[in-house]
Amino acid sequence: MSDRIVVAGVGVDTRHWIGGERVASVTTFTDTSPIDGRALGEIARGGPAEASAAVAAAKAAFPAWAATSRTERARLLHAIADGVEKRIEELAVVETNDNGALLRSHRRGVMPRVAHNFRFFADWLLKLDHEDFDTFPSGGSAAGRGHTNHVSWDPAGPSVLITPWNAPLMLATWKVAPALAAGNTVVLKPAEWSPLTASLLADIAAEAGLPAGVLNVVQGYGSEIGDALTSHPDVRRISFTGSVPTARHIAASAAANLTPLSLELGGKSPLLVFADADLDLAVDLAVEQYDNAGQVCLAATRILVEESIADEFTRRFIDKAIQLTQGDPRDEATDLGPNIHPRQLEKIDGFVQRALAAGARAVIGGQRTDVGGQYYAPTLLTDVAQDSEIVQEEVFGPVLTLQTFADEDEAVRLANDTRFGLAATLATGDPERAERVTARLVAGTIWVNCFFVRDLQAPFGGSRLSGVGREGGTWSFDFYCDVKNTVTAPNGWNNHG
Ligand code: NAD
Repeated sequence: MSDRIVVAGVGVDTRHWIGGERVASVTTFTDTSPIDGRALGEIARGGPAEASAAVAAAKAAFPAWAATSRTERARLLHAIADGVEKRIEELAVVETNDNGALLRSHRRGVMPRVAHNFRFFADWLLKLDHEDFDTFPSGGSAAGRGHTNHVSWDPAGPSVLITPWNAPLMLATWKVAPALAAGNTVVLKPAEWSPLTASLLADIAAEAGLPAGVLNVVQGYGSEIGDALTSHPDVRRISFTGSVPTARHIAASAAANLTPLSLELGGKSPLLVFADADLDLAVDLAVEQYDNAGQVCLAATRILVEESIADEFTRRFIDKAIQLTQGDPRDEATDLGPNIHPRQLEKIDGFVQRALAAGARAVIGGQRTDVGGQYYAPTLLTDVAQDSEIVQEEVFGPVLTLQTFADEDEAVRLANDTRFGLAATLATGDPERAERVTARLVAGTIWVNCFFVRDLQAPFGGSRLSGVGREGGTWSFDFYCDVKNTVTAPNGWNNHG
């Protein structure tokens, strides 16, 4: 096995990064490109031994990193952001070859956002030094009069971060940045279908001067390496983004040590289009759900349209959707790239064929597209029953369903009637309706007349099967830290007041 592969001119180390050193494994797995199915290289296939070594490295590095001043940690996070910004083009090209998402969005949106993840949490870290932020007097009961509360955020310890393939570096750094900022050390395990940019991140962090063992990256297949990570007694936090079945497995594994978990999972989010909406905007929002070939957890894959405008909406939707260009994601003109893996394509087609067999109608799409790779045609299915598989289960491909509703009550009932609760999007011209409806929807994030606008300061996560916990801004710090409150008596020592 070669330790280094070259992807579109960029060298990528295929080994783990443990304790500041590259470490090979006896076995490997083949990483393929979804663009054309070609093998990109053989990647180290870690197991329990590599998991233990990485956790041991993170544990050894923890005391010094936790004791590093916030200013110095913030400086290093900014240095990592600088390194990302210098290598935006390389990161974008490698990510596109590895996971098939659009090069133009990696270049202009995703990779700058990766750098921003580090800058945001570096700056947030410094806010914690402000006295008025975390110190306040006790009021109320006699016992508490004149006492001072001081809240501190103590680093929790080695943290295992497990990420999926649909937005690899974006989702990895959304966890790595706050974990490091909080003073934790990290073992990152990227998805086996898109392992490459995590390895580049290890290079960037080392070049930025991050001490050995503070960030470790291990490669490998699901539970082969995952179980040893998530059941490890020295791991203090597990943050996972991925599917519901894997989350259940991880939660069971983490139960042995009651390791705190943050779970960001799948969705089956609705887009509610009311008759008073700006129809052009509503159609744009609906077509946007095909972004990343439908491989977006937040995608509003269930379009719910008020009956009176359903025909007009559908006509305009079709006009717009059929103009989407499907093809090579490296091409600037491409709107829809490939799906990640032949297995994912099988899964998507299985959902669609079963829906059609159950009576659904494909208004557009309904089959693979033969443009020379793993592409599925943008699909819109109507005549779907609320309790059918296609309405209830996450497809994770470019497949939308369209249902109609008679009034607000029915819209809310249909919107809430799945086991998920990640997001919801509303198109309406009536602010009062927006207020009424959002109050009744079950979702971690709701967008009104917009989609996918995410501020790092805002809480992010899902309700029901879409997840446990929230990350972002203060929620990330609370998760990655042991939050402690110290109450001091008025004179500093006499706690009898
Ligand atoms: P997945 O659950 O198959 O895999 C995710 C990660 O978990 C991979 O790194 C995988 O190797 C690892 N893994 C698998 N089994 C494991 C085990 N037993 N122990 C530890 N790790 C294990 O998910 P996927 O197919 O890679 O990603 C798609 C899913 O992710 C979709 O359901 C999507 O909605 C969800 N997702 C959610 C969000 C969010 O923020 N809510 C964002 C992106 C994707």
